[in-house]
Amino acid sequence: MTETAPPTAPVVDLLCVGAGFSGLYAAYKAVEKGWTFAGFELAPDVGGTWFWNTYPGARCDVESVYYSYSFSQELLQEWTWSERFAPQAEILSYINHVADRFDLRRHFSFNTQVTSATWLPDERLWEVALGSGETRRGRHLLAASGGLSTPKDFDVPGLENFTGTTVSTSRWNIPLSDLAGKRVAVIGTGSSAVQCIPLIAEVAEHLTVFQRTPNYVFPARNAPLSADYVDEIKSNYTAIREECRHSLGGIPDRIPDAAAFDVSDEERRERYERAYVRSGFNGVGGEFSDLLTDARANETAAEFVREKIRQIVHDPKTAAVLEPRFHPLGAKRSCFGTDYYETFNRPDVSVVSLRDEPIDTMTSDSIVTRGGSYEVDAIVLAIGFDAFTGPLFALNVSTPEAGRLQDAWSDGVRTYLGVMAAGFPNFFMIAGPQSPALASNVVVTIEQAVDWITDLIGHAKAVGADVIEPTAEAQDDWVKITEDTVNQTLYATADSWYRGSNVAGKPATFLGYVGGVGKYRRMCTELAKRGYPGIELD
Ligand code: FAD
Repeated sequence: MTETAPPTAPVVDLLCVGAGFSGLYAAYKAVEKGWTFAGFELAPDVGGTWFWNTYPGARCDVESVYYSYSFSQELLQEWTWSERFAPQAEILSYINHVADRFDLRRHFSFNTQVTSATWLPDERLWEVALGSGETRRGRHLLAASGGLSTPKDFDVPGLENFTGTTVSTSRWNIPLSDLAGKRVAVIGTGSSAVQCIPLIAEVAEHLTVFQRTPNYVFPARNAPLSADYVDEIKSNYTAIREECRHSLGGIPDRIPDAAAFDVSDEERRERYERAYVRSGFNGVGGEFSDLLTDARANETAAEFVREKIRQIVHDPKTAAVLEPRFHPLGAKRSCFGTDYYETFNRPDVSVVSLRDEPIDTMTSDSIVTRGGSYEVDAIVLAIGFDAFTGPLFALNVSTPEAGRLQDAWSDGVRTYLGVMAAGFPNFFMIAGPQSPALASNVVVTIEQAVDWITDLIGHAKAVGADVIEPTAEAQDDWVKITEDTVNQTLYATADSWYRGSNVAGKPATFLGYVGGVGKYRRMCTELAKRGYPGIELD
């Protein structure tokens, strides 16, 4: 074995992968604590999700006044969101503003991929290898690499035969006008597809949507924010954000006052109608207390949405294809769109059900399904992500004793609090698998995780420990808690990226803790108060 010389750059306190919401807040906290920090970002600039996902119509689906940082009062007051759900460009300029305002950019190397991360037990350091061939060393390694940052591979053969335009929503790199007058295929009907389909339909000569699983799509009811509303929010921001931190999903809770069958059929209907107008994550799916735990109750809400689809979509056959029937409402991420179902009334838009006719292959100018051949000039892939584990495994995190993270997790994800993994000392995941990230306003989860992790590192430093590692027992307990929690809900019944079912061969483990960000925060705070039982310091 050849010995490599240690890198000449100084050892830092924190090595960090990623410059999205997570990495930037980690850099901020490191500076606040007086620690040294070296961040690495594959992209040429900050933004993460909001740097990469520039497809037409991209915007958040958690209200912007909640989907943003809360750590700085000045920041909360000086930034004004223009719409209920800000478009991608506005979120990206917000993240750039944060990077500039707190002078965070200088802590990152951009255009720099971390290709592996190796624990050096003798030195008690992590060493990361960079795409350039250089290495850097640090005492702790933070994976701020994102839950939805590794696009899923397209697993249908023949795409290489296609000679027209191919573009993916997660790496969008063409002007929308490039699709003008073309026969366009959109493959996928998840959140990104729901946002871009109506806009592509407006310019395409013909749009064919290839749908595998119909989703529950609610009208986003996006709108400009009035000055009065912004003033009101700003004057209550402290209380609002505190409420988010102690909520179920990271947005102010709307606690249902009844179960679905506590009320008459008529009242239930009226309440769904009002919730449909309200929309958002506190909309129809949050109207009754048992919608995510009782399949019969859930079916009342699901059928309400199907009825809406039948009312909106004129052609009964098209409506039938679009009706979600394969999973309970909310068990996969619901989608929010503008004129989504209405778009299918256009004469130049059609939908193909891949459940009825899967794609066999592609030729130079066509998508060939079991039911026919569709000539197209452009293909838009809106096929989602290899969620959570995709970016983590690509980091090739390893220790001499535990081996690689992907080998340790070959039967499924095993974490402590979604933050650490037994066998991987001083390695921390921000908004990682088995954290509340998946079922929350992710920025709330990110801030909590970074605060908790940096407090833990501070505690270890204060007691003179170099090494922080959860015990296997504490990890087993957490895995059981996440499983028990999800098994009480209907989340457990749906195949989705929440369970890794969207990626062939990915072991089926539910990738989140669904007990709520507030409950999770209380557990984490309690553990910190008790001196971090379940974590060994050395
Ligand atoms: P990311 O923003 O994903 O950033 C991770 C960064 O790490 C990326 O820039 C990536 O390039 C970099 N990276 C990864 N691996 C490496 C490597 N090996 N070397 C170097 N760099 C690396 N969440 C919500 O709560 N509400 C929403 O409305 C919402 N809307 C979304 C819309 C879209 C289209 C998508 C894709 C996601 C959405 N999300 C939403 C989830 C979103 O990912 C999170 O809210 C949040 O942006 C995650 O921030 P992050 O910093 O943890 O990760």
